[in-house]
Amino acid sequence: MVERPASVVKEAVENSLDAGATEVKVSLYEGGKVRIVVEDNGEGIAFDELPLAAARHATSKIRTVEELERIRTLGFRGEALASISAVSRFEVRSRREGDETGGLLRIEGGRQVMHTPVSCRRGTRLSVEDLFYTLPARRKFLKSAASEERRVSSLLRDFAVAYPSVAFSESRDGKAGFSSSGDGDRERLLRDLWGDAGELRRCETGASHLSLECWWAPFPGKTRSLVTSFVNGRAVSDPLIRSAAGSLCRACPGNWVFLFSLDPELLDANIHPTKAEVRFRYPGEVFDTIQQAVLKLSGRVPS
Ligand code: ADP
Ligand code: MG
Repeated sequence: MVERPASVVKEAVENSLDAGATEVKVSLYEGGKVRIVVEDNGEGIAFDELPLAAARHATSKIRTVEELERIRTLGFRGEALASISAVSRFEVRSRREGDETGGLLRIEGGRQVMHTPVSCRRGTRLSVEDLFYTLPARRKFLKSAASEERRVSSLLRDFAVAYPSVAFSESRDGKAGFSSSGDGDRERLLRDLWGDAGELRRCETGASHLSLECWWAPFPGKTRSLVTSFVNGRAVSDPLIRSAAGSLCRACPGNWVFLFSLDPELLDANIHPTKAEVRFRYPGEVFDTIQQAVLKLSGRVPS
């Protein structure tokens, strides 16, 4: 589940979003190989619950089997912090609104070495040092700092598109990188990301249990389309969406963004540990919805 700095950042940011954060700041040192810090202004973790947060299969998000059927949070397995803290020097500082002091928990290679009150701002700050120091063979598979930085950066851009009301910022070895304003204006964000003031079209389609917000920046110079898709706030690279969108968008080159909102009961997000793939109960309906959107925006009959 934890493969590289970007996987750590993904899990940490999902936790920040689940905690209702409106600001998420990611700092990388040497592409995250030396240190990764993720700070948020979310609801925080109570002092007594800190060790539990890093324990395996401990999640605060699901209490019953029925709840598992309609997951609305990004996380639900309670595995991420346990896996990360088992293979790094891990520290979490957190304070909830209204608590006088916060808590600090340190785990090194899976062993708790400190749990003490500290003063800190509201929210949670996670620091992951020396990722895979316990697994030198695994550490060798990490790419150059620049390459790991690129993965994190593209991940944060995806998060920014999915959550335009959250301000994301990134720094690399102390220098500011990508940031989003968090003002909720998805159009402006896409224009920033795509770096061109050309035409940008938007449409909504679908029904209440399956709706789709779709964006298209036509790019006549292109022969292929770049498609990014999200399901319930999670970037997915699902084969069904990929092939449906790919074939439909071929006739209309440009940048495409598909944001699906689905009733969680129509979705099984449980099939892949990194949750990048989803399984739809009614794939045909998903295909039709994509087709409708592409038709609406392009005014063409797809081949
Ligand atoms: P999951 O997200 O599947 O519950 P994690 O291992 O990612 O499991 O996190 C374990 C628990 O730690 C979460 O259920 C949550 O209670 C707490 N937690 C982790 N990160 C944060 C955060 N940034 N803000 C508030 N609580 C957090
Ligand atoms: Mg999580």
